[in-house]
Amino acid sequence: MTHPAQPEASHFINGEYVEDTAGTPIPVIYAATGAQIATVYAATPAIVELALSTAKEAQKAWAKMTGTERGRILRRAADIMRERNHDLSVLETYDTGKPLQETLVADATSGADALEYFGGLAASLTGEHIPLGEDWVYTKREALGLCVGIGAWNYPTQIACWKGAPALACGNSMVFKPSETTPLCALKVAEILIEAGAPAGVFNVVQGMGEVGGALVTDPRVDKVSLTGSVPTGKKVYAAAAEGMKHVTMELGGKSPLIIFDDADIDNAVGGAINGNFYSSGQVCSNGTRVFVQKGIKEKFLARLAERTGNAILGDPMDEATSFGPMVTENQMNIVLGYVEKGKEEGARLICGGNRADMDGYFIEPTVFADVTDDMTIAREEIFGPVMSVLDFETEEEVVARANDTEFGLSAGVFTKDFTRAHRVIGNLEAGSCFINSYNDAPVEAPFGGVKASGVGRENSKEAIKHFSQVKSVYVRMGDVEAAF
Ligand code: NDP
Repeated sequence: MTHPAQPEASHFINGEYVEDTAGTPIPVIYAATGAQIATVYAATPAIVELALSTAKEAQKAWAKMTGTERGRILRRAADIMRERNHDLSVLETYDTGKPLQETLVADATSGADALEYFGGLAASLTGEHIPLGEDWVYTKREALGLCVGIGAWNYPTQIACWKGAPALACGNSMVFKPSETTPLCALKVAEILIEAGAPAGVFNVVQGMGEVGGALVTDPRVDKVSLTGSVPTGKKVYAAAAEGMKHVTMELGGKSPLIIFDDADIDNAVGGAINGNFYSSGQVCSNGTRVFVQKGIKEKFLARLAERTGNAILGDPMDEATSFGPMVTENQMNIVLGYVEKGKEEGARLICGGNRADMDGYFIEPTVFADVTDDMTIAREEIFGPVMSVLDFETEEEVVARANDTEFGLSAGVFTKDFTRAHRVIGNLEAGSCFINSYNDAPVEAPFGGVKASGVGRENSKEAIKHFSQVKSVYVRMGDVEAAF
């Protein structure tokens, strides 16, 4: 009997499921048990060609529809996603291993928010009129054309929607390649868009590893590439896109600072540190994994943090009581355990966790290190797992300089009751998505993205429109043309 997670076929192109078993088989493993729950096949060159040619053709008619018509389809898709939230969340849990307690509120719901928000904006994408005496210029906001979306494995439904919704709202078509680790959820997004009335071919999904992504990025028909992934992949994809002078959005990794001053409300700060390190078992790009705590409250903070971390419930992700799931793969678990060992070897003080959990699946205990120094590997490299590093600091000036001393610049947070200081510190931090007395909120209305090596461009909010459209300027002369000869 097939598992309920097994999709009808591997790819979704031109409004229907498409299979080509000549592609490399990709096993889909449920991280909570290690069992294989589905198989998809990587796209062959024929599948890549079908997806790109279909999307290129479908885009023309899609862009000619009115924004109101396009928006209506996206908003209908949002409604369908919300109606099916439970089933979509179960699938997201199979795909990623994240607990249902999370997926019920953070994945299809976030995808639906993006579809609703950009659906609402679609009709208001206009240009401007620029008077020049008798003459004038008018501008038009036009689609870029064919966009490629490439996703990471931590939020497969959300990433497909965060890229697909603004792309489609602006009149683009998309070929989306999910991570090979989590290939299932984006297929449902494609299915739902068709059900909501999207013309066949405007949103397509193909499976595969980096080489399929590479084939998509380098194809001359592609006008834009939006990647969510690691910095090394981002550098490769950005360079390949530059070769074809394509537009890019790069949502990459981070090693973000979370700064807690000694006047902060301890429980809120601990809550922020937990949300910024242990949600999705730490597999979140914007996580505040360098937690700088002012010396005066250090031990009190650590004691409360250890106590609350002890309340995490590890277990069957399908049980809604479970609040902490496994790593997405065995490989990712081993990478993270390697960092935990490095932390121990380099002299950080283990406060809690630090081991693989004694149960089936790829679980690692939520882990906190204290007395971490800036030069330690766990304070410099993105771990992408449940490993929090707590560092001490004394002054504001010192902590800002240390917080900025990294190649990354995705997020940053500050906890303090002194609002003047909060705004000053945030103003001095080199990061794109910041938080005051909070951490990791990502509403669709707010721009999201990084500076420095963490990326280029912004997702969500009205900012995303700028990255999925371009301005055409038209000069209109009312009188005669003067020429030198
Ligand atoms: P990877 O960079 O390994 O992969 C990202 C995607 O790129 C995958 O679909 C991958 O395919 C594909 N890919 C790999 N090589 C190429 C290539 N040469 N050309 C085109 N595509 C390629 O990231 P992970 O999936 O491991 O995700 C974790 C990373 O993503 C972390 O660094 C995290 O911080 C970042 N991330 C950033 C977010 C943001 O918004 N800033 C949000 C979420 C995660 P394959 O299927 O083979 O892996």
